[in-house]
Amino acid sequence: MPEFRRYLINIDSISTHQLFADCLIIGAGIAGLRAAIEAAEHCNVIIVCKDTLENSNTWKAQGGIASVLDKADTFESHITDTISTGCGMSDEVVVNSVIRQGPELIEQLLRWGTEFDLIDGRIATTLEGGHSHPRIAHAHGDETGRIIAEALIRKVRQNSNIRIIENFFGIDLLTNDNNECVGLIGYDKHRPRGADQIIWAAGTILATGGAGQLYRETTNPEVATGDGIAMAYRAGAILQDLEFMQFHPTTLYIAGASRALITETLRGEGAVLLDSQGRRFMKDYHESAELAPRDIVSRAILAHMLKTNSTHVFLDVRSFDKEHVAKRFPHIFELCESFDIDVSRDLIPVRPSAHYMIGGVKTDASARTSIENLYACGEITSTGLHGANRLGSNSLLEGLVFGKTAGQSVCPQTKASVAHIKHPLIKYQIPHSDRSRLDTADVRNSLRAVMWRNVGITRTAQPLSEAQEIIRFWQRYVMDKVFDSPEGWECQNMLTVSLLMAQAAEQRQESRGVHFRSDFPDTDDENFKKHIEIQK
Ligand SMILES: Cc1cc2nc3c(=O)[nH]c(=O)nc-3n(C[C@H](O)[C@H](O)[C@H](O)COP(=O)(O)OP(=O)(O)OC[C@H]3O[C@@H](n4cnc5c(N)ncnc54)[C@H](O)[C@@H]3O)c2cc1C
Repeated sequence: MPEFRRYLINIDSISTHQLFADCLIIGAGIAGLRAAIEAAEHCNVIIVCKDTLENSNTWKAQGGIASVLDKADTFESHITDTISTGCGMSDEVVVNSVIRQGPELIEQLLRWGTEFDLIDGRIATTLEGGHSHPRIAHAHGDETGRIIAEALIRKVRQNSNIRIIENFFGIDLLTNDNNECVGLIGYDKHRPRGADQIIWAAGTILATGGAGQLYRETTNPEVATGDGIAMAYRAGAILQDLEFMQFHPTTLYIAGASRALITETLRGEGAVLLDSQGRRFMKDYHESAELAPRDIVSRAILAHMLKTNSTHVFLDVRSFDKEHVAKRFPHIFELCESFDIDVSRDLIPVRPSAHYMIGGVKTDASARTSIENLYACGEITSTGLHGANRLGSNSLLEGLVFGKTAGQSVCPQTKASVAHIKHPLIKYQIPHSDRSRLDTADVRNSLRAVMWRNVGITRTAQPLSEAQEIIRFWQRYVMDKVFDSPEGWECQNMLTVSLLMAQAAEQRQESRGVHFRSDFPDTDDENFKKHIEIQK
């Protein structure tokens, strides 16, 4: 079966250009960058990313990073909010550890030059849905991700132990006969006409982020195609909770424009949702109205759109002072202006879209995966922090904490240094296939539409099973080919991850957190208070 192929391309390790690192990090968002800084304390590091450093989910993060930074707030309160949002699936040890490390690591970011918004010299905090205390630190208003990333990138660039390679597409993790990870084969666009390259590493950290691009409607940038999850699967790692994809309730809905996120901090600070008749409808669906957890707001919007036969609803910020919006939410203010939406007069058209991948590569508290010498951190992982639903602004926090942990954990592993590690000879030859070629751009678009329709906010058995049938059909014609550019490999990865997600969603015959089955609307603790693990 082509989908069980170990590698996506032919490999002959002897004749492929090679680099060596004690620690290799794949991905340069908050998790990968933070891991690099930590690992570089003890060993040499190569960090690769498939586009430029500016193209990541981290760069796009708006609202902020959650932590207990206010004297009136407590760890217990942040822990309780996280666990209750996780609907019985959070790992309490992980939640405790991440939340208690938050303040120190955020203060460290401040010292490293992150320009958090301050009040009286202290980090200012605001409220978001699901949090019982204002604990969201933000930077330059709604540009928190970019400002944190810039500070981390400055720090990484200053470190002579770290080499950054941009425009390097990771194709597959390399493993030896004992199934230990020994590095990566990728495609370096810098090299003349682009070329395959092997990076041998004593320890490898996967930090490739999420998979929002599997859906037609998404807040995620083009790089979020789930490559790392597919690579880890092919290498034999355990994945878990793939059915849990979080949808963000409010993304700008303008036909033809990309789905830019309208941060929920606006709702935290008083913005309300209106339907096409100008009626505030969230109270019909949940007592916390606009501040209900994201999954509830997303489903309520979808249900209300169906009820009112509309393509979208509206966010109303007209009660806000216009200058305050321009200063506090500069990114959103400019975005709205660019579409001639005057936030002091006009309503903002919004609808939900795929936002955050909760499931992913299973890791333990030390960021170890089930494969020796392979670590993972950030959105690609399933650490147990979020359970079945993610509390807003907890993901930057998770990337920061687990980035540091992965950087620490990889080091004892790399003590021997890569120079002393015996590199295996890897030869892999894929038989030629005579099957017809499909246009991968077309498959990709159609796949995203199927995922949105059949594996979206509300799921049910028949469409889930149809989605798998359609994906398997495409796989027959796409997974048997050998591509020589990122577009083809991305399409293969997207087909792999989409199928696994649809399978997991079909298997979980209950509703919990972000996973809502209209044919099984109740939570079934007896049969499903457990993780769905997947391994090749
Ligand atoms: C619009 C938006 C707003 C958000 N707002 C918030 C918020 O306010 N607060 C919050 O906590 N979270 C927010 N999130 C979620 C949060 O930004 C992400 O979960 C987090 O930044 C993920 O960090 P990461 O380091 O794991 O991955 P990313 O930041 O996505 O980085 C992934 C890296 O992996 C690289 N990569 C991917 N595939 C490959 C490959 N094949 N080869 C080589 N490199 C590869 C990419 O190039 C990139 O460098 C938001 C997300 C979005 C999209």
